[in-house]
Amino acid sequence: MTTDMNAIVGTHDILMITLDTLRYDAAVLEEPNCPNLCGSGPWEKRHTPGSFTYAAHHAFFGGFLPTPATTDKSTHVRLFHSARTGMKTHPHTWLFDTPDIVSGLAAEGYRTVCIGGVIFFSKKVPLARVLPGYFQQSYWRMNFGVTNPKSTEHQVSHALKVLDGTPPDQRLFLFMNVSAIHGPSHHYVPGARHDSVESQRAALRYVDGELGRLFQAFRERGNPVFCLAFSDHGEAFGEDGYHGHRLAHETVWDVPYREFIL
Ligand SMILES: [Zn+2]
Repeated sequence: MTTDMNAIVGTHDILMITLDTLRYDAAVLEEPNCPNLCGSGPWEKRHTPGSFTYAAHHAFFGGFLPTPATTDKSTHVRLFHSARTGMKTHPHTWLFDTPDIVSGLAAEGYRTVCIGGVIFFSKKVPLARVLPGYFQQSYWRMNFGVTNPKSTEHQVSHALKVLDGTPPDQRLFLFMNVSAIHGPSHHYVPGARHDSVESQRAALRYVDGELGRLFQAFRERGNPVFCLAFSDHGEAFGEDGYHGHRLAHETVWDVPYREFIL
């Protein structure tokens, strides 16, 4: 069963959450402890189109979400695709006739808002204004960033203000880059001095707990909401000698993906 994006765009609010740096295996291990993200089903294993934030998000905004990690290409129905390419597309794929899905949704009447997280959304230098620049409105505060252990709380509180200021008949595309799972994540494990799968898992539990308020506020608007939640890339913690991301290793290219109606 594939989501019919042509029955979503125009009627639903759309909430896209990137769980920056979350590994697929860490996400799966925490499924039972993530009632908000996994209440309606498990994570799907996908491959990211980019190994670090900047590359991956350009791909996402271009309509290239993480690819199902299966060799059967026929099961992969794209949610978004550029119009008028001459390529055959699935009837459930929504076609946009702009450079990216963000401006494409704006052309359909959506208000587009970015709540930034990691440094590529900080707007502090020209490079860090590129990704937020896709959106009509974008926000970043120091306390949304990776160094603040309560970053998701601050991001969600800001998103609630955006929701408050958006009339229910105004369709909304809200994008949030969650920074909490990106390093440093060891502050979520008492006594830990290094980031690990364990600290990612603790960070994810924290994030899921905070997302409950956001999901509830969207539900209270009264519109149907299509939610996309996935990671932009994983992180190597010494596997085969690799550390970090922006490299090609399964710990980086395997990412968790979910889509659901709130
Ligand atoms: Zn990232």
